Amino acid sequence: MAEFTTLRAANEARQKEWDKGAKIDLSYRGNEMAGETGEACNIIKKLERERLGIVGSRATLEQLAEELADVIICVDLIAMSVGINMEAAVRSKFNVTSEKVGLKTRLAVPL
Ligand SMILES: [Mg+2]
Repeated sequence: MAEFTTLRAANEARQKEWDKGAKIDLSYRGNEMAGETGEACNIIKKLERERLGIVGSRATLEQLAEELADVIICVDLIAMSVGINMEAAVRSKFNVTSEKVGLKTRLAVPL
């Protein structure tokens, strides 16, 4: 999951450009993530609308991919702001859940 490391480095670099005074706080980040999650949910609603044959605006999987990417970026920004290692957190939580529900699939620790 080296992608987490790459994303974190890019988020750190971009935030220095974007928030020069480092004014953005955890509350802002939480609202940002909720907003992006809502955007993803709205796309899902429109995809489901098409599947159900209900009139109204439509959306595409490409739009869903963009919004899901925004959510992941926001999650990493929150983790960055409070010093959470997302790779370790995802691995741990994935494996705890597998253990809890009796499934054998685990995320391995990289060599
Ligand atoms: Mg978005």
